[in-house]
Amino acid sequence: MANPGGSACSGRLIVMRVELTTEPGDPAQPNEDYVSVALPASGRGGVLVLLDGVTPPAGDDGCRHGVPWFTTALGGAMLESSASRRHRTLADSLTEAIDRTAAAHRTTCDLSHPRTPQATAVAARWDEERLEYLVLSDSALLLQRPDGAVTAVLDDRLDRLPAEVRAAGEAARALPRGSEARAAATAEYTQAVEALRNAEGGFFTAAADPSVAERAVTGWVRRDRVRAAAALTDGASRYVEVFGAGDWADCFALLLREGPAGLVGRVRTAERADADRTDFPRGKAQDDASAALIEF
Ligand SMILES: [Zn+2]
Repeated sequence: MANPGGSACSGRLIVMRVELTTEPGDPAQPNEDYVSVALPASGRGGVLVLLDGVTPPAGDDGCRHGVPWFTTALGGAMLESSASRRHRTLADSLTEAIDRTAAAHRTTCDLSHPRTPQATAVAARWDEERLEYLVLSDSALLLQRPDGAVTAVLDDRLDRLPAEVRAAGEAARALPRGSEARAAATAEYTQAVEALRNAEGGFFTAAADPSVAERAVTGWVRRDRVRAAAALTDGASRYVEVFGAGDWADCFALLLREGPAGLVGRVRTAERADADRTDFPRGKAQDDASAALIEF
């Protein structure tokens, strides 16, 4: 209910800019990303949740529902839990969200399948005192300080795979494009990486095992040390990480200037300019891309 007096409100009015965008990599395929912001009724803060569903090879994931169903269910549960139960940590909320989502299809689907629907996760929750965050797998959270400096909060386990696996990837990339040897080496490398999915010493995604929440990168910063925050799926962060169009500070400046849709538009332009993935090797030529910007 509105405050009729206008001045007797116990909470300070917080004005902020919230912008979201999400776009499928292929318009003919469903988007597997999820992004949402909740501004709870207290008016003293908010919650951001951004997920990137992992596309299973050849659609084989043991689930009859599909990845878009999974990310929608997981994202909705995460948003509800983290926004309405603020005394719990974001990791606790992710645990609960994974549990609830798994329970919703345990009787119909094979959740022990290694490619059971899964997603990367970013969450941020703020009030007047602080901003808490959680990052699992390769989506990114960017925080801009009042002096303009930008920090990227990343779960870099995918960049820290065992040396022999990384060396196999580099060896495959060194072979001639289009050659049988390169195809075989790439397949072998991909298999080695897949063996490390949700395995000790490897990398972790939010799938059906709630204990993965303990693996997330978590922390908090004082709210007055954050001027703006942004979350990006890797389809949007490829502006920096694949195309090298700028660093994180450049990316943030673009977000503030042109909004999340402007960033994704720039990524699409770069993807179209290298449609055969020659100059900028990457998994999908065009990926689902989502970005959220909160300016306090
Ligand atoms: Zn299912």
